[in-house]
Order: sequence, then structure tokens, then C-alpha cells
Amino acid sequence: MTTSTLTIDLDALADNWRALDAASGPGVETAAVVKADGYGLDAGRVAQTLAHAGARKFFVAAAEEGAAVRQALGPGPEICVFSGHMGGDTDMIHDLQLTPMLNSIDQMLRHVEALPGHDFGVQLDTGMNRLGMEAAEWAALREIALGQNIKLIMSHLACADEPDHPMNAQQLRAFREMTAGCDVPRSLSATGGILLGPDYHFDVTRPGIGMYGGLPFEQARPVAYLSLPVIQIRDVEPGETVGYGNAWTAQRPSRIATVAAGYADGLHRALAPKTYVYAGDIACPVVGRISMDLITVDVTGLEEDPQQLELLNAQQGVDVLADNAGTIGYEILTSLGARYRRRYVSS
Ligand SMILES: *Cc1c(COP(=O)(O)O)cnc(C)c1O
Repeated sequence: MTTSTLTIDLDALADNWRALDAASGPGVETAAVVKADGYGLDAGRVAQTLAHAGARKFFVAAAEEGAAVRQALGPGPEICVFSGHMGGDTDMIHDLQLTPMLNSIDQMLRHVEALPGHDFGVQLDTGMNRLGMEAAEWAALREIALGQNIKLIMSHLACADEPDHPMNAQQLRAFREMTAGCDVPRSLSATGGILLGPDYHFDVTRPGIGMYGGLPFEQARPVAYLSLPVIQIRDVEPGETVGYGNAWTAQRPSRIATVAAGYADGLHRALAPKTYVYAGDIACPVVGRISMDLITVDVTGLEEDPQQLELLNAQQGVDVLADNAGTIGYEILTSLGARYRRRYVSS
């Protein structure tokens, strides 16, 4: 194999969605968040797989992202847009039959004027102060909104990955107060909120990262596997250095493998000092700096020269890499580059 290969296990993806659907409980609809090109794994493929598993409602960040999802799904499944109805979005919302989650009075006016009778949802701000209508704004608009084609009222938790954080209960209370007496389906929880328990589930849950194999869903099956071909292997004497800045010096006679991927493929330089690359079960340390297209690995401990090394596998998932780089699994996934050959498999 001569190309770095990102393998995406679509069965694991579907299993993770089913597990989050089961955790959402009976009578709750489990949607699927496929923004950022399906967390970097291809929104169309992901959406098709999840539709097959039973998902009927999908969320994207912006109207443009709805195009690939609608094309993959055809008419029928609902595609909701977190950024709402922005100026210039009207034709896309109409032609692709998208459901904008309206975030402000301005968006509401734009929507009902441009597309009267077209479905919409409302996003409420319950304390995160990122998107959504605040309590006063919603109070002013509520009766008008409830008289139109409103399909969903949603909000988003800021601290759901920390179950003991008091912000969770505070936002839950605010959401209940703001939506009391509204006979409209409600949605508060992403992956983290699903794991907080049934109080947080309401009518629709919106998992993203857990489906893709990331924390906080600890039971998730890994979805992304990354295999890097070895281009060259060399012997390095004690005292010789490897890579830019002479950042690593051999302490013993060493064998160094150079593999084909680098920071231009989403493998951040900050991964270098702590990250291992695997030959089967054997962990080989990354040495020296990560370059744009290349990574150097100490394979002295291997009995045979490897043809390829695994950076994402069953032992080392996106959250291990995230820890090593000081970030979160979401960022590792959505950074995975465009140069990989992508293989979609059913396990
Ligand atoms: C990204 C996002 C989700 C999905 O969150 P995960 O933590 O990936 O499950 C749900 N709702 C909103 C508003 C989001 O922005």
C-alpha cells in the first residue's frame, strides 16, 4: 500500500448511533449531527448509513452543508440547520427543503417573510451565550412562532461532558421555564446530555461525537482507523539527530522509519512528543518533529521492518491523540486531511 489510508467503519458508526438511540430511551427520537462534513468522515456517506440504521432527522451547521446531505438522502428526512436562516440562505432552504433553527427575531422575520409556511425550529439560549434567542426575545416572539410551522424548540448544553457541573441543572431549569406550555417537540441534548439521563432527553436527542467513536461516550466503538505507509527506513548511530531542529538525538543504535503523513494531513505538531504509531500491537514512538508530509518513528524494537504503521487503531483512538495534542477528539477528527485514501467498510 503506497497511500496513507483512512478507514471508516460504517457498521461501528451505525452501532454507536443505535446505542445512543437506546440510551435516549423509548419515545424519544434520536437525530444525527452531521455538520463539518460528518465530523470529517463524509456527511453523505455518514447520513446514508445512519438513515439506513433508522435516523430520520439530521443536523448541519450551515445551509451549504445541507446540500451534500440532501443529495445523499433524497427527499423525506428532515435536515435542520443550526445557524438558522441567514441572509442569502433563502433559496437553499427552499430548494433543499431545509429546516432552519431560528436564532433571533431578525431571523424569524426573514424566514416568515421570505418563505411563509415553510417549516422552522427555534434555538433558545439557556446560558451558553453562543446561539439562540434569549428569554426576553423569545417571550416577545413566542405566540407568533407557535402560530406558524414550528417543528422543534432546541437549546444546547455548555458543560454536558462534566456530569457534576451545576451549569447542567441550571440550563435544564431555564429550558423548562422557557418552553413550558409549548406544544412543540423539544431537544436539549447532544452526546453528553444523553448520558446525563432521561431528564435531559425531552423529545429529540442530537448526538454527534459519540456516533463517531469519541468521548464522552466511553462505550463507543472506534470508527476511524489510520494506516500510514513506510517510505524509508534507516539506521542512526548514537549522537545522530532526526528531523527539523535536531529535536531528537539517538541514545543507542536506532532504526528510524519515515511514514507518509504530517501536519498537512491534520496530524498536529503538538502530537509529536507523546504519540506512538503501532506495528500490530507494538507501540513505536514518534521521534523528532512532525513535518508537513512526514513523520519519523523509532522502530528499533521491531523484529521485522514494517510496511506500514497505524496511527489510529483499536488501542489508540482519537481521544488518545487529542490528549497528546492538548485538544479534543472532535478537533482530531475534523482535522483529518483531504489527502488520505478513504475506505468505507462494513466490519
Ligand atoms: C455539535 C452540536 C451537537 C452535537 O454535539 P456532540 O457533542 O458532538 O454530540 C448538538 N447540538 C448542537 C447545537 C451542536 O452544535
